[in-house]
Amino acid sequence: MKAAVLHRFTEPLQIEEVALPSLDADDVLLQVEACGVCHSDVHIAQGDWPPLAGVTKLPLILGHEVVGRVIYRGEAVTDLQQGDRVGVAWLHWSCGQCPTCREGRENLCPTQKITGVTVDGGYAEFIRAKASHVLKVPEALTSTEAAPLFCAGVTVYRALTRAEVRSGQRVALFGIGGLGHLAVQMAKALGAEVIAVDIAEEKLELARSLGADQTLHATREPVASELRAAGGVHAAVVTSAAKAAYDTAFASLRPGGTLVVVGLPAEPLTFPAILMAATEARIIASAVGTREDLQQTLALAAAGRLRCQVETHPLDRINDIFDRLRQAQIPGRAVLCF
Ligand code: NAD
Ligand code: ZN
Ligand code: ZN
Repeated sequence: MKAAVLHRFTEPLQIEEVALPSLDADDVLLQVEACGVCHSDVHIAQGDWPPLAGVTKLPLILGHEVVGRVIYRGEAVTDLQQGDRVGVAWLHWSCGQCPTCREGRENLCPTQKITGVTVDGGYAEFIRAKASHVLKVPEALTSTEAAPLFCAGVTVYRALTRAEVRSGQRVALFGIGGLGHLAVQMAKALGAEVIAVDIAEEKLELARSLGADQTLHATREPVASELRAAGGVHAAVVTSAAKAAYDTAFASLRPGGTLVVVGLPAEPLTFPAILMAATEARIIASAVGTREDLQQTLALAAAGRLRCQVETHPLDRINDIFDRLRQAQIPGRAVLCF
């Protein structure tokens, strides 16, 4: 099968022929129809995050926003049929047995397998997946628009849920990329007043077209002082990997406000303790999502309340897509189509 393969960190992906994956009894083999290109894939390919780089399989097929059709199932798989259209998320597999899984936090399972990191992902014509962890894609969604929900969508769903965003609250979203443009729609659906912040004018335009109440340009406008002058925000969700976005987001909170860590800079985040105490800021992080979060996200999209803006490309454009992601030039999500 044709695949884009990462051989060494920081090197371009190679388009090559690789062997079809062999299946365990609880696996399915999917023919990939669409795979979203998440900014995390750029970080992974660069080896940006040492804890993850340490467990990354090499050579590796990246890609963790995958939709495909079941073409073969292992002998223990009974609940999926050939031809079923399903999605594969970042959480490739979780044990279901450990205390973390039992507490309903399977996204944090210490022995989890990660699609496109510890096992091969969807930048390929075929992918092997665990039948227990794939989810059926609602008929109402095309494969292309559904694929990004398997990371970008579920991640912002969980982030906004964890922030306990309520109707009438002011929510600032820092970074209106693949994740952020979906967050605008979800925060609006929750009844929040949404302020979108980015460094690219076309991203701000996209945010306005999706219902953002206010947009602010991160390098041209004094974002934090403007937001504080209006009372500060109840929640600031950062889906940019820029440390500068975190500094501004922290400074934009109202007393008792919540900062949600989603975007993942390579360098550590630092906030002044005196200001953390003075505002009783709540700083929380969010990690992709559980299958339950994903089910909710898919339902929102199937009901027409969430739509991913996509541009489609063939597999061999992947290195160009990575370059454009680094330069903040992709509005919405780039999706590889097969
Ligand atoms: P993206 O490139 O599509 O979007 C990032 C956006 O941030 C772009 O629109 C860019 O213009 C904007 N930006 C850059 N600098 C900024 C600044 N100073 N202020 C405001 N905005 C700025 O990326 P994506 O696919 O949406 O992913 C975003 C981040 O989220 C990445 O770091 C990715 O690794 C991370 N991520 C985290 C999780 C998680 O579970 N925590 C899940 C998925 C992705
Ligand atoms: Zn992702
Ligand atoms: Zn577990």
